[in-house]
Amino acid sequence: MKPTFCQTYVLYLSPPSFCSASPAFYLFCWPCSCSTCHGWGWSCVLTGCCLCKWLRYQIQLPRNMIENSMFEEEPDVVDLAKEPCLHPLEPDEVEYEPRSSRLLVRGLGEHEMDDDEEDYESSAKLLGMSFINRSSGLRNNMAGYRQSPDGSCSVPSTRTMVVCAAVFVTVISVIMVIYLLPKCTFTKEGCHKKNRTMELIYPLATNGKLFPWAKMRLPSDVVPLHYDLELQPNLTTLKFSGSVKIVVNVLQVTRKIVLHSSGLNITKASLTSTGGRQAKPVELLEYPLHDQIAIMAPEALLVGQNYTVNIEYSANLSDTYYGFYKISYKDEDSKQRWFAATQFEPLAARSAFPCFDEPALKATFLIKIKRDEKLTALSNMPKKATTPVTNGIVQDEFFVSLKMSTYLVAFVVADLKNISRETNGSLVSVYAIPQHINQVEYALNTTVKLLEFYQKYFLIDYPLEKLDLVAIPDFQSGAMENWGLVTFRETTLLYDSKTSSARDKKLITAVIAHELAHQWFGNLVTMEWWNDLWLNEGFATFMEYFAMEEVFPELHSDEDFLNLIFKAMMKDSMNSSHPVSSAVQSSEQIEEMFDALSYIKGASLLLMLKNYLTEDVFQASIEVYLHNHDYGSAQSDDLWDSMNEITNGTLDVKKLMKTWILNKGFPLVTVVRSGRNISIQQEKFLYRVEPENWTSDASYLWHIPLTYMTNRCNFTHCVNAYLLDQKSAVIELPEEVEWIKFNVDMNGYYIVHYAEDWKTLIDLLKKNHTALSAKDRANLINNIFNLASLGKESLENAFELIDYLKEESSTAPLTQALFQLSLIYNLLEKKGEQQLAARVMYRIDNLLGNKIDQQHWTDNGTLSERELRSILLAFACTHDIRQCRTAAIGMFEKWMKSDGTMSLPSDLMKAIFITGAKTNEGWEFLLKMYSSSVSEAEKSKMIEALASTEDVRKLIWLMHNSLEGEVIRAQELSHIVATVSQSLPGYLLAWDFVKENWEKLTRKFHLGSYTIQNLISSSTSQFATRAHLLEVKTFFESKSEESSKLRCVKEALDTIQLNIQWMERNLAKLQKWL
Ligand SMILES: [Zn+2]
Repeated sequence: MKPTFCQTYVLYLSPPSFCSASPAFYLFCWPCSCSTCHGWGWSCVLTGCCLCKWLRYQIQLPRNMIENSMFEEEPDVVDLAKEPCLHPLEPDEVEYEPRSSRLLVRGLGEHEMDDDEEDYESSAKLLGMSFINRSSGLRNNMAGYRQSPDGSCSVPSTRTMVVCAAVFVTVISVIMVIYLLPKCTFTKEGCHKKNRTMELIYPLATNGKLFPWAKMRLPSDVVPLHYDLELQPNLTTLKFSGSVKIVVNVLQVTRKIVLHSSGLNITKASLTSTGGRQAKPVELLEYPLHDQIAIMAPEALLVGQNYTVNIEYSANLSDTYYGFYKISYKDEDSKQRWFAATQFEPLAARSAFPCFDEPALKATFLIKIKRDEKLTALSNMPKKATTPVTNGIVQDEFFVSLKMSTYLVAFVVADLKNISRETNGSLVSVYAIPQHINQVEYALNTTVKLLEFYQKYFLIDYPLEKLDLVAIPDFQSGAMENWGLVTFRETTLLYDSKTSSARDKKLITAVIAHELAHQWFGNLVTMEWWNDLWLNEGFATFMEYFAMEEVFPELHSDEDFLNLIFKAMMKDSMNSSHPVSSAVQSSEQIEEMFDALSYIKGASLLLMLKNYLTEDVFQASIEVYLHNHDYGSAQSDDLWDSMNEITNGTLDVKKLMKTWILNKGFPLVTVVRSGRNISIQQEKFLYRVEPENWTSDASYLWHIPLTYMTNRCNFTHCVNAYLLDQKSAVIELPEEVEWIKFNVDMNGYYIVHYAEDWKTLIDLLKKNHTALSAKDRANLINNIFNLASLGKESLENAFELIDYLKEESSTAPLTQALFQLSLIYNLLEKKGEQQLAARVMYRIDNLLGNKIDQQHWTDNGTLSERELRSILLAFACTHDIRQCRTAAIGMFEKWMKSDGTMSLPSDLMKAIFITGAKTNEGWEFLLKMYSSSVSEAEKSKMIEALASTEDVRKLIWLMHNSLEGEVIRAQELSHIVATVSQSLPGYLLAWDFVKENWEKLTRKFHLGSYTIQNLISSSTSQFATRAHLLEVKTFFESKSEESSKLRCVKEALDTIQLNIQWMERNLAKLQKWL
């Protein structure tokens, strides 16, 4: 039998227990006369029936019933487990939350629920309703709970209803006053629930007062127009002092000016109004958590007026790689010297001078630097004048800059030399410390050629009168595109004909091409916010390879780009990936945007689009984009709009590209051939599907500009195109074909699975591999190994496909095959499957042995041949294949006997040094030569060789020494750790090193930076056990919340899980047939 609603209702709300204690009861219930009991009872707003006060049962509701059906998750707990009348609730125990309405009743017993008790659940819902303003859906359900007039309760009279309504309104008012008002502080943004929340909205400044701004992004009421910046770095005390005058314009009336400042000791701050003669003192508030300061004006700042903020400050030159930082190096006489340089992108301009440090807040800059008269000072603009200040100190004043973002401001103070050449009205100069000045000529020639190319291609002149390129002795990234003053790591700018290899030449050319492209993409037109960083970096990367192909076709840089795309796709196929354009706010999130996806995926999407739109349309589109937004900022949509201007309705580029920019990952296209019909189908490529993401993963849809070729027409001009904008489609060919290859030259960002047709392609490669281009061959190798990881294709077939490699002579397919086989070899080796790993190496020896034997130990041949030789011999010597080590050790010993004066083939130095470093004597000698070498190209090969030793003490010493920046600079650390973690003796050491030095590492390199990303991924990438998975997870969880939330940490965990999955899927099979 079911108890009536009234009875059960009384059970919970019967006075005087619960109701007497909770004002919420009075909100919804009022006294009435009850006909059943002939006395007074309680009527409630949702039932309308009168409930007798004395009807009270002691029934307990099952706990799970209450928790599951009645209330939401966690929250504030009200314990109703005990008999309500005996234990009335205290008001404090009930937290009324108007915003989230969360309340939980817990501990009501553990009964099984029977039919009768279902009604109690209904009552429980009612109880919930009486407290909280539930959804309308629930409210509708309440209609079913209304008591029939024939029941035990009477329907209240009209008079009662009127009286009750009046009581109801009064009670609500009282509740509002008692419960809401004291907790509500009305601010500009409305009512905030509690004072506690108020603190979150307006945090406390360092002096204990309320800081008038709580967001990471700056308010939009004031914008900067111009900065006058004066700096005096002291390379003896390693401190600097500065003063800045910022002219700002007021857009909305306000009393505060909020801007960025980090780690600066501000000694004076004042404000001057336009035309005002006297600077008025202001109150300065600091909120270091957001790197913000607030200038509190004595009176309201008027809309449309300009004001000048004057700030004087001092700080130490930084010992990290950010802001205005110091570098120690040895000069030609081995004396210690200091070098001061800047690196502001993304968020470090604020640590050199107070500023509005957001990319869209562009302004002009007038910079003055006081320096020792023997040193050189450089900044973005040409020098206007040099004036003496005091004994030995002079001041350089630079011309006022163009309108630009703060992260592009730069200055360098050091002992420098340069060479220069003029082109198209701009003076190009390359600077280096004196002992390196004979290595800058290649960079100067390359820069001039590329600058001319870009000006013609964009149809916009480089707007400054000078362009300086400076080699910085210690630099975290490869280079930085500061407008007019591009800074480089020495290895990416200095070319030494004796020691720089073919690969080094490519690297220098690529980095210069990248940074010069930024002078337009990034400097002239800047992304509005860091979420669209790809507009800067994707474009610069795309232009880097495009310009190299156009200006230096002999470098075959397109093959390098291909290999980079493969690596970016590996990252993008994990759950930890992110859309190219992703919302970011915190500094770690912004730092983490500088990853392979912004750079390489961004670039490869542009490559795909260029091929689809055609060369001319693409070029015209980017001209329009640059013209439309010059000296301003842009979002992704602005780029698509510019493209749509050119396509003029024939193609909606925005619609097409949004599927690529806003989706993470990429599609897997499955192709099934049946006569003339080719069925194609797309799905998301994911190594590992997580059950909770299954639905969202399945709903992905890309608009894929497919390309394909067949045996009927296998030259590049015969490429066919098809836009797949549905989940599946059928292409009808004019005739039957022997084979079909999609994604011609890998110009599209997707992977293709040929279902039953892989055998045809494997046979094609065996019979006539040149029927496909080298890039297509590399593409097939990459795709089949990826499909094998996914379990869609057998690893056996993947190995069969590369059997043709004996005939291969192109770099791209060979390097891709070596990369895939090395991944497998490394996993097996670290898993303790030494025999199986040896079988993989035997297979490689079989495939490439002849090719290795054919190599000469010289620098002869085309750049492409030299590069391939360098890769093959370094691999062979590392893994002791064929006679590599014998040849290498002979050369190393001769070099050692000559005390390093004998010149070695630059392309083979790496192979020779790796072999030489296997002995103790060789390693020590190499380290000695490293310390004295003036060639950065040579030093970088030495570092790799030193880090490839199997002596664990030496490995530990190397990592620690580099972190301290003693013999080996800290800029080399991530390279060292990456090399150490590849080897069997080193991979656990590398992880231990990262763990033990985590605090030091994040202080030096910043959480989320590219270096930290690399350190985490390389030191964990070889793990393939659940124990390691747990260890890595636990380690980062034990660190700060910011650390455990890093995307690269998630990626590291994804990679380990993938490795585990790969082993489970393939180990047994490999043991059988390899
Ligand atoms: Zn860049």
